[in-house]
Amino acid sequence: MSDLRDLYQEVILDHNRNPRNFGVLDHPTHQAQGVNPLCGDQLQVFLRLNDGVIEEVRFEGRGCAISTASASIMTEILKGLSVDQADHCFAVFHAMATGAATPGAADLDLAKLEVLSGVREFPARVKCATLAWHALNSALHHAGGKVTTE
Ligand code: ZN
Repeated sequence: MSDLRDLYQEVILDHNRNPRNFGVLDHPTHQAQGVNPLCGDQLQVFLRLNDGVIEEVRFEGRGCAISTASASIMTEILKGLSVDQADHCFAVFHAMATGAATPGAADLDLAKLEVLSGVREFPARVKCATLAWHALNSALHHAGGKVTTE
């Protein structure tokens, strides 16, 4: 178990050092800001949708390793998904991170998300791990704006 945990941490550190899809997206169709005051995480999620499919997704901001890695992994997963699929990923990840029963994965490859499931043992870090996802949800369904964990 400790070996597995070390591996997960290495993946998280790698995403934190080299976040994927980092930077402002030109001409986003959707965007939102997420703020986690407890940790000081702040990030902005940008999306470009075409015909209900996420064509591009990027993020920028500053945060701890968990929030940055989670946002980075999220952007890798979302590209090419429909909004419905993205919503499903959010539900699965939220359940995974909070220790709730995980809904079925519905043919989506969510193995990457499991890297972050260890946060459920650290309640304060759950907000870090889910911040980018809450911003995503706001961007897609609540006309963007700012979401805060508090
Ligand atoms: Zn954090």
